[in-house]
Amino acid sequence: MPAITWDSKLATVAGHHAAKIEKAFGYTTVGDLLQHYPRRWVDKGSLSDLGAIVPDEHVTVIARVVRARRHEYHDRRRGGVAYRLEVTVATEKDELALTFFDKKRHVADWREKDVRAGRTGLFSGKVGTFRGQLQLTNPQTQMFGEPGAGESEDEATTAWDKIPQLVTIYPASAAVQSWQISDAIALALDLVEEVPEVLPEELRTSHDLLPAAQALRWIHRPGSWAEKGAAERRLRFDEAFVTQTVLARRRAASAALAAEPRTGRAGALLDRFDERLPFTLTAGQTEVGEAILGDVAAAHPMHRLLQGEVGSGKTVVALRAMLRVVDSGGQAALLAPTEVLAQQHHRSVTAMLGDLAAGGMLGGDADATRVALLTGSLGAAARRQALLEAASGEAGIVIGTHALLEDKVQFADLGLVVVDEQHRFGVEQRAALAAKSSGTPPHVLVMTATPIPRTVAMTVFGDLETSTLSELPAGRAPIQSTVVPVADQPAWLDRAFARIREEVSKGHQVYVVCPRIGAGEKDDEPPAEDDARPTAAVEEVVPMLAEGPLQGLRVEALHGRLTPDRKDDVMRRFAAGEVDVLVSTTVIEVGVDVANATMMVVLDADRFGVSQLHQLRGRVGRGGLPGLCLLVTGAPAGTAARERLDAVAATTDGFELSRVDLEQRREGDVLGASQSGVRSSLKLLSVLRDEDVITEARELATAVVAADPELRDTPELARQVRRLDESDQAEFMEKA
Ligand code: ADP
Ligand code: MG
Repeated sequence: MPAITWDSKLATVAGHHAAKIEKAFGYTTVGDLLQHYPRRWVDKGSLSDLGAIVPDEHVTVIARVVRARRHEYHDRRRGGVAYRLEVTVATEKDELALTFFDKKRHVADWREKDVRAGRTGLFSGKVGTFRGQLQLTNPQTQMFGEPGAGESEDEATTAWDKIPQLVTIYPASAAVQSWQISDAIALALDLVEEVPEVLPEELRTSHDLLPAAQALRWIHRPGSWAEKGAAERRLRFDEAFVTQTVLARRRAASAALAAEPRTGRAGALLDRFDERLPFTLTAGQTEVGEAILGDVAAAHPMHRLLQGEVGSGKTVVALRAMLRVVDSGGQAALLAPTEVLAQQHHRSVTAMLGDLAAGGMLGGDADATRVALLTGSLGAAARRQALLEAASGEAGIVIGTHALLEDKVQFADLGLVVVDEQHRFGVEQRAALAAKSSGTPPHVLVMTATPIPRTVAMTVFGDLETSTLSELPAGRAPIQSTVVPVADQPAWLDRAFARIREEVSKGHQVYVVCPRIGAGEKDDEPPAEDDARPTAAVEEVVPMLAEGPLQGLRVEALHGRLTPDRKDDVMRRFAAGEVDVLVSTTVIEVGVDVANATMMVVLDADRFGVSQLHQLRGRVGRGGLPGLCLLVTGAPAGTAARERLDAVAATTDGFELSRVDLEQRREGDVLGASQSGVRSSLKLLSVLRDEDVITEARELATAVVAADPELRDTPELARQVRRLDESDQAEFMEKA
């Protein structure tokens, strides 16, 4: 028999279970299987300590199934059949009830076979009480031994004796029994000859890390908690190290590219613009601005991420960089996530530039340029004109939506790409725009108002330098936020509407935000919890308000189903003060800027994410007038939804809120779809918690790449890096 290696087919250790394991987890090799790490480790000692079953505590017990009965019932919420398995298990002293709820028949069938009278297993979950009896609902389970016909008491005792001191519990799936996967892993551990080592020996020892093979043995079969800890530390480090090496190589590759240095001219557009700026730049704007001007003057392409809260003045910083590029004979493109935003950027950039944007016009300034707008909804003539201005270089600045990415769009000399709101744009779109530059690649500046924790930035945007604008420009009034709990206090809703009238009577304007456009429409946001209440819809709220509590006020609707002309018209009239109350979906989320709008009412606020609510409310309090934000919710006190809203009401610190937000999401969502390779390669590393590991790995990876860019001395590292890089690129190609 040939030796079993890391790359051997899964079937060599999993036999006829291989197909099921591959289907459930996507593993194809022995190495993949060995990286199926336990989900939890439990002390055997604690399993026999049965005095400890206390309501609300998390317990893991070993017990034998005494009885199991399956019930079918009608699930009213979902409108279909569902299954409940009621189980009684016996420990040495106690009985405990377990209840499993399953929605799918085949899962219920599997469960009934798995948790069958006579079998022994581990059950782990939070202890609750039901009708005075202690019970675990949907506990994690791991049954022992082959599910042969009725195991005897003796077998259960043997099973107990065979349990190691630290019990490992593996992620399982309905299709694969936990014992099948742990048996296969045990066999693989015994048979595999060599475990690949990504770390050069001297780096490994100097960082006090276990050899890879030992780490692998200890993660699966630790003799003590210390062994498990050391193993985890090593394997987590590897994940960070491989990811950071990929990023270090991307950074090195882009630093090796040539870009046109854009050094500008004294006394030209940028200087003229600075002279007429109606305010002084904040210290942060000045500092970040200098860094960016330094970047675009360099002979390598800039890749910079600029983060700053809504209203922190990112656009001005970007515009100054664009002007510097125009002063150097190049062009700049500004890519906005929505049509409304592109139009607004176009209006405000044109207004800020004044006659400096009147290039080629009679009486225009000699240094002046032109600002073109290119969106999907332009008429044929306007579109032709914009395309022409971009291609001829007449327009120094071209602002647009995704339409800018189309093949037809050509630039004479694209020197800078500014992307507004990174989270709506993938890496691939950035690349598509960068590819429009005919000669050397353009400089790239990405702006985001969603603060990204340092570790996430280092992992997801590891190929970008980051800058942060942390102060808001002076004269910004604070926003007061209040939760309006209509479940506990129905009368407060009327008070909220009365408050809108009051605000309008002072000459101000108000936003009302709804999760949906119309009846029968799906939510913008999937419901956070399993909650089937219909939510507020723009098309229903407008007549409800206009004919009810807001009678006599000018109430208008804005949402994504309106024609672009109609949207533009509504926005224009709202900006001009001709509309009192704008009822909209989240289309107003980013960037819309109406200084006279002082109040926002978010209906069914629990349907929005924490960061999204924070962004939304950034629309008010922009004109030096204090802002008020009411978060209306039907979620009862004490629910997770209410806690989220209370957090938003309690602070205006975007970084704090972004942390709250990220903690509630899964890692995969944090990393985003465009980083699927990175995402699936991170098993033990948390991009939210493991800052130290990521920082250390980044330094090491940078040093390794600097000394040996092709990774010739570390073939295993080179191999894993290539694999991860390719999985990201593959994703990229599929989307393109
Ligand atoms: P962001 O894009 O970060 O949300 P903007 O660049 O749109 O913020 O700036 C928000 C508003 O603040 C704009 O009206 C802008 O003109 C104004 N602004 C920007 N910088 C300053 C500053 N240093 N002092 C006063 N107002 C400023
Ligand atoms: Mg902005």
